[in-house]
Amino acid sequence: MMQNNNITPEMEDRMVDEAYQNLLNIYLSSNHRKKVEIIEKAFKFAREAHKGIRRRSGEPYIMHPIAVATIVIQEIGLGSTSISAALLHDVVEDTDYTLEDIEAQFGKKIARIVDGLTKISGGIFGDQASLQAENFRKLLLTMSEDVRVVLIKMADRLHNMRTLQSMPANKQYKIAGETLYIYAPLAHRLGLYAIKTELEDLSFKYNHPAEYERIRAQVAASEERRNELFARFAAPIRERLDNMGLKYEFTVRVKSCYSIWNKMQSKHISFKEVYDLYAARIVFECDDPSAEKRICWNIYNEITEVYTKHPDRVRDWLTSPKVNKYQALHVTVMGPDGDWVEVQIRSRKMDDIAERGFAAHWKYKIGEGEEEEELSSWLSTINEILKEPEPNAIDFLDTLKLNLFANEIVVFTPKGETLNLSNGATVLDMAFALHTDIGMRCIAGKVNHKLRPMSYKLASGDQVEILTSNTQTPTDDWEKYVHTAKGRTRLRAAINHQKRIFTEEGERRFKEFLAAHNIELTTSMLDQLIYKFGTTTKEELFRQIGCDMIALNEEMFIKKDPGSRFNWWKRNPFKGGSKEEAKADEPAKKGAPIDTKAVYHLTTKDGKSNYVIAKCCNPIPGDDVVGFIKADNTVTVHKIDCSTLARLKASQGSRLLQTLWEDHNDRYEASIHIEGIDQKGILQSIVNIISTNMSINMKRMNVTSDNGVFNCDLDVYISDAQVVNNLCKEIKKVKGVNSASRVN
Ligand code: MN
Repeated sequence: MMQNNNITPEMEDRMVDEAYQNLLNIYLSSNHRKKVEIIEKAFKFAREAHKGIRRRSGEPYIMHPIAVATIVIQEIGLGSTSISAALLHDVVEDTDYTLEDIEAQFGKKIARIVDGLTKISGGIFGDQASLQAENFRKLLLTMSEDVRVVLIKMADRLHNMRTLQSMPANKQYKIAGETLYIYAPLAHRLGLYAIKTELEDLSFKYNHPAEYERIRAQVAASEERRNELFARFAAPIRERLDNMGLKYEFTVRVKSCYSIWNKMQSKHISFKEVYDLYAARIVFECDDPSAEKRICWNIYNEITEVYTKHPDRVRDWLTSPKVNKYQALHVTVMGPDGDWVEVQIRSRKMDDIAERGFAAHWKYKIGEGEEEEELSSWLSTINEILKEPEPNAIDFLDTLKLNLFANEIVVFTPKGETLNLSNGATVLDMAFALHTDIGMRCIAGKVNHKLRPMSYKLASGDQVEILTSNTQTPTDDWEKYVHTAKGRTRLRAAINHQKRIFTEEGERRFKEFLAAHNIELTTSMLDQLIYKFGTTTKEELFRQIGCDMIALNEEMFIKKDPGSRFNWWKRNPFKGGSKEEAKADEPAKKGAPIDTKAVYHLTTKDGKSNYVIAKCCNPIPGDDVVGFIKADNTVTVHKIDCSTLARLKASQGSRLLQTLWEDHNDRYEASIHIEGIDQKGILQSIVNIISTNMSINMKRMNVTSDNGVFNCDLDVYISDAQVVNNLCKEIKKVKGVNSASRVN
């Protein structure tokens, strides 16, 4: 860490005071109502809380919240509540103060915003990259409660990007990537163009330092010639604008390094070939809002009288502004040197809104009492933008899902619908994700129009068509081809279902055959057949008959000497069972013998449990469980109704243990399946119950909606079974939900 010894504590205090004073000055010169008191209080509180802490750059930590608050007012235009929350945004996360302290001092509103910021922060800045997708989704969902959380987060990210230099290189790379895929598109959505452009350029600079530098140098090198060209281009237009009596600014705007680079990449062109390297912008002053549009068109007329316009490149954002309220008139004309030049025509107000988003509205609103109303209408518009994405704009959510998250992929159906699958998903996983029936009948897939086997691993962006056949039936082998939890569960269920049908069919055929040939059914005969065909159980024997693997004939009923192998089978009725059972036959290897007569207390000490959770039934503390002592003297706990346990009971009852849950300190994972009729707000209500009402941590949430049927698979972290039961009960109360239950 850098620390300059020449800086005395007094100098540092002065630096902090100055930064804070600057923040206040900006606030005081804005059109917000002056609520300096709360800001002052937040500043003092945060300064005290972060006392003695430094940022990586060596600065006192408080400089960061001040900078974030400054962005919040200066670049986003929010008021005292947001400024205070920005000053306090890292207090709960980084110091000993709690949310309750914040609420006691600053009230509910600010506390909720700080809470939102704290929640997002952990996940997105944390090292658990895989959790980011979920956290971001949570962020979006909780945002509607108070969109200021997102705006302040944006300011926080912007300042972190501006000071990224002091972070280690690997963090720089990660943060820059995240910024590009999450924050920049979000800023774009919110109409915060200036912030969006700066975030993109900063990300680009850290992700591709050499290319950034090269483009920056090329832009600089071409500046002189550009200015010359522009002067020549602008001169006749200026003359006309002057004649109109307008007060205006006519400037040339060079594209950002990032968008130049982006264009070069996507169009495979060189720097010189980027024809719209710069755009000309006319911003005129206008006191009369009703005259703004007319003036824009007048300017347009003047320009097109001088230069020929490109017929396809007139953009009228005046008559129909973008959802984020962007207004301007764009026209592309042929300049004196034969180059196409885009001219953007805007009033001062339109320009402010374009650069700073809705925040700019503040400047044009004066008058007591209007503030709260105006703020809430602004915030609700932003909510709308986020909830009802522009249909023809790139869906930033899809973009980020496609690019950022390694634990999840997004694939497309032939109709262009998207489907989220976990990483590693195969064609068969996708088939099962669509529907169990499609999975069961899957024979292969067409991935990007090429035929692929069902084991083919999908990648984000793949377009996948599932090929099915009515004669297809799933087999145990298929388990090798599914890699997602959902795929596995559905395949298992499908196979079991299929097996039951074949078993019944086989049993029916078997009995009919016996009756037709006058053979009497005896236990020993059945045993012999089971031995002969190596099927282990009579059900399996029937199943193989049912699906034509064994053909019935009279010969197979001729009695033969069972021999030693027959006896061997009798002794090992669970051959082919789980590894656990096989191991149990081995002698104990370690640990003191466990007293099977006493109640075994299931405890966790120093993070080490004296038990293992059985994979087959996944019990959690509070469930009724039975312990099973494995050969190595470890205890595995199964649910009391677990089918594996039932078999263990029959074969190795002496290894079972009565158990008692001692403590519930661990965080357990539970899965919940929710079904219902899809309706507006259903997901929001469910998430509210989970995150807000019950404060349960979500690990994963997967939602599908099929013909109006809403299906949601939810993985949560909980402390015991009661919590899951309560959660299910609460979720069932949500309108539209038909069932909510725990699954394994
Ligand atoms: Mn921060």
